[in-house]
Amino acid sequence: MRLKFDFPSTSRYPNRGTTHRDEESILRILVTNDDGVYGDGLWQLVGELGKAAEIVVVAPDREQSGVGTAVTLHRPLRVRELKLWPSALCYATDGTPADCVILGLGGLCEAKVDMIFSGINEGANLGNDILISGTVGAALQGYFYGIPSVAISVGSLEKPSFAVASALAAALVERYKQGQLAGGLLLNVNVPSLPFKDIQGIEVTYLAGRSYVDVVKEEKDQRGRSLHWITRGTPEWAAEQGTDIWAMRQNKISITPLQSNLAAGDRIGELRDLCPDLLANLRTTGC
Ligand code: MN
Repeated sequence: MRLKFDFPSTSRYPNRGTTHRDEESILRILVTNDDGVYGDGLWQLVGELGKAAEIVVVAPDREQSGVGTAVTLHRPLRVRELKLWPSALCYATDGTPADCVILGLGGLCEAKVDMIFSGINEGANLGNDILISGTVGAALQGYFYGIPSVAISVGSLEKPSFAVASALAAALVERYKQGQLAGGLLLNVNVPSLPFKDIQGIEVTYLAGRSYVDVVKEEKDQRGRSLHWITRGTPEWAAEQGTDIWAMRQNKISITPLQSNLAAGDRIGELRDLCPDLLANLRTTGC
């Protein structure tokens, strides 16, 4: 499925050849993030993936962490081309990470996109928190379009080390080139912020439960009015074996394959049993 996008057709790829054959053989990767277009992790990723593929960056023009899967439908989006990397087209938008992927696939990339990477996010995206993660929310859009999409994060907010994560991203691209990881695939990858020698392995994981507790802090502004901050509390690290949090706690890389079907199979019977009663209730209201 392709989006319709009214966009000038003249190719502006810095690296692109002119023949049809060249167009088809070039691996093209759309890169986005939720930390914003100036995020260090994004450019570490572009630097590494750019060795093997044509890169188009479409990223938010500001921090968008925690916006999850949000898509902007109530206002138009601004798109600005930035010259931040000699061999990659780069666009900044005032939309969400998911908007960036929709815009990229809808025309900014001009031609077929083979893979999508979202990251490298500063801070892990683990357990239930992936549902509010803009990093994962962007990759989800690629998955909706049947494109292998990878959300990738490192487990530190302070002086994060992106070297292993970007090398792993390049290794995944290499697997794709060799015919693996094809089709609608959504991976949530978390990498410890450590040098490779300290990483204890790679685990393919399930999602843990809640990783953080939300804390609401109330303050007063200069005029004495209330401000409420939603902040992340202490992580709950009681993670079962085989989960993403468990893997990261052991300084292992965690790869979780995700899918979009959130239907809770174990509650379907209970809800079906309720339906006759709900219908009977509706009948009595005269609605
Ligand atoms: Mn982020």
